[in-house]
Amino acid sequence: MSRLQIAAGNWKMNKNLEEGVALATALVEANPSSDQLVILATPFIHLQAVGAVIKDVPHFKLAAQNCHQAEKGAYTGEISVEMLKSIGVEYVIIGHSERREYFKEDNALLAQKIDAVLAGGLIPIFCCGESLTIREAGTHVDFVANQLKESIFHLSDADFSKLVIAYEPIWAIGTGVTASPAQAQDMQAALRQLIAKQYSQEIADGTSILYGGSVKPANCNDLFSQADVDGGLVGGASLKAEDFTTIIKAL
Ligand code: PEP
Repeated sequence: MSRLQIAAGNWKMNKNLEEGVALATALVEANPSSDQLVILATPFIHLQAVGAVIKDVPHFKLAAQNCHQAEKGAYTGEISVEMLKSIGVEYVIIGHSERREYFKEDNALLAQKIDAVLAGGLIPIFCCGESLTIREAGTHVDFVANQLKESIFHLSDADFSKLVIAYEPIWAIGTGVTASPAQAQDMQAALRQLIAKQYSQEIADGTSILYGGSVKPANCNDLFSQADVDGGLVGGASLKAEDFTTIIKAL
């Protein structure tokens, strides 16, 4: 079964506007055509300008790194799904481990955000993953399964079929330590099995599951060659056009 292969760059809180536009321009120039999908998750203030850079390149899409769960209202400093949609954003990262840790976003809140993104017609990229303590205790599959159960397994078949999942072991994010291809494959195969059990084999086979955690040019080929790794969610290495282009080309 062929699934969409995706390279998603999470810029986090990096680059001013000029630098962000320059990065997007360099990426578009280096990757003029592709059967695969490239998603740029920029800071909010870059979205419109980066959207203008990628507007004629259909395999480049725009993502936000977060959104609020409410439709609108008195939530000072927050951004709604409708606002994102109105400037051409198509994807929203939900549940990144940095949002879970620093902004105390729990599984129940993330379920609300997932619902808001889907209700607004955008596509969530749902992040899940365990800490080092949980990995060392050997309970990582159960832990991540519970994240899926509490945040996305309430969705209808139709809604579930739209989302993208990113498995990101926290111990590998921004640390330079990457999960081995076998570790990524084992977890992602387990997640796909869970999805098949909860939904159907067809839906499981159609769900793109990305790996995230220190993906770089040196390891992307080995990771992406795993049967259940459908691309990567990339932080640090997505900030350099040359590195991210190598990763895109490894899809
Ligand atoms: C991330 O931000 O989701 C990520 C995986 O970061 P890095 O690639 O830097 O580990």
